[in-house]
Amino acid sequence: MRENIIEIFSSIQGEGKYVGCRQVFVRLEGCNLDCTYCDTENEIGRHPQCTVEEPAGSHALHTYENPLSVEKVAELIGQVAAGVPHHSLSITGGEPLLHVPFIRTLAERVPLPIFLETNGTLHEALAACIGCVSYISMDIKLPGVLSHPVWDAHARFLEVARAKDVYVKIVVAAETTEREIETAARMTAETAPDVLLVLQPVTPYGGCTAPTPSRLLALQRLALEHMRDVRVIPQTHRMMDLL
Ligand code: SF4
Repeated sequence: MRENIIEIFSSIQGEGKYVGCRQVFVRLEGCNLDCTYCDTENEIGRHPQCTVEEPAGSHALHTYENPLSVEKVAELIGQVAAGVPHHSLSITGGEPLLHVPFIRTLAERVPLPIFLETNGTLHEALAACIGCVSYISMDIKLPGVLSHPVWDAHARFLEVARAKDVYVKIVVAAETTEREIETAARMTAETAPDVLLVLQPVTPYGGCTAPTPSRLLALQRLALEHMRDVRVIPQTHRMMDLL
């Protein structure tokens, strides 16, 4: 089994509930969505090489020809994780659930819990690999950043994901509407009322603008009318120039 891998590195989790935890990251190609603020080149086949940062935090990149076998990926993970206890293996993308057989096989070969970073829309794919997943960082994608809304897909996904340690994350921009946050908070509360809901101000990129501080607090207040635990957490790894 072989896959195109964009990158493998050891760093901290920069977002959400487990912010600051040391993880190994494996980034897979491809996505089923088209968010306006996306900072990842997602087209399948656009990465002839996988980059591996070694040593961690150095920005020194080594390259390996894609596609890589699952055995080679496990070996590279062991290499970047060596000597430091890691919280988990973050499998990210793109949308990692486009690669379920690879995730399942890799999980058998890596002695770290699997932390899935997903756009939260592929519930059948999640059901097919949930047995090997320990943590789920689930995004809710608002209609304003997509070419079509995905509320139903999110609700079905959360039904499956709530069996695990899951939290929900919404990237908010200057254009994010109260109605979008209210719909997202209601949907989450109906399906999994006790999960953490994270509002993540967008990191300005490609014309996206972050909400003002007062706007951010107003959106949090709105979400707190429906959910018990709503936190505002920005992308912290960018502040420290970490991958
Ligand atoms: S779901 Fe993530 S990877 Fe896919 S387009 Fe949106 S931001 Fe990019």
